[in-house]
Amino acid sequence: MTLNLLNQSDPKLVTDSTAQAKADSDVGSSVGADATVQSNVNLFPENQNQSNEVLRTQFWSRFSLAELNHREWEALCDGCGSCCLIKYMDDENEEEVVEYTDVTCQLMDCATGYCQHYDTRQEHVPDCIQLTMDNLPDMMWLPSHCAYKRLYKGQGLPNWHLLLTQDAVVTQQQMRAANVGVAGRCISEVGMTDEAMEMRIVTWVTP
Ligand code: SF4
Ligand code: SF4
Repeated sequence: MTLNLLNQSDPKLVTDSTAQAKADSDVGSSVGADATVQSNVNLFPENQNQSNEVLRTQFWSRFSLAELNHREWEALCDGCGSCCLIKYMDDENEEEVVEYTDVTCQLMDCATGYCQHYDTRQEHVPDCIQLTMDNLPDMMWLPSHCAYKRLYKGQGLPNWHLLLTQDAVVTQQQMRAANVGVAGRCISEVGMTDEAMEMRIVTWVTP
């Protein structure tokens, strides 16, 4: 089985009303010599403050993903940052992440867990992909707690999601307790060799 390394997305979700929360090894076996680095995927929604759209009451359970307005779509992102981690993918089934690493895209601020240049990220990382309703079906490698993936699969929001708690501090505490988020425990891909990366597979993120 040939594997690909997928480095991705941008966790930035936050809007004033959303919580941005932001996203181990045996490398050995699965990731070995066949691994290649792939690009970044940016799942985040673009410009959130551009409209007068409102968050409809419990929109996440009353409407399908395709029916959400831009602001609602953005509000689903918890800012975990996990989608910006480099992961090893199966070349023959790219929807299936084999393993995540704790290595992030070069633009990630590993202390905060946020993209350092979100607005201009594609100037720096052209292959950072934006998550949309169209490409979501091909992104089932997203972490299991990701609201986009969960709603797509007919599951509910994680119980710590800001939309449910309505309290950013509580959400942050509960995400930490749930072991979710990359802030403070990731490392930049800059200067990282393929061999070193293969040694950084982690188990705290799973698709
Ligand atoms: S450019 Fe920013 S949003 Fe995109 S993968 Fe890198 S850190 Fe994440
Ligand atoms: S994994 Fe999902 S919830 Fe987390 S930052 Fe990426 S898009 Fe947002």
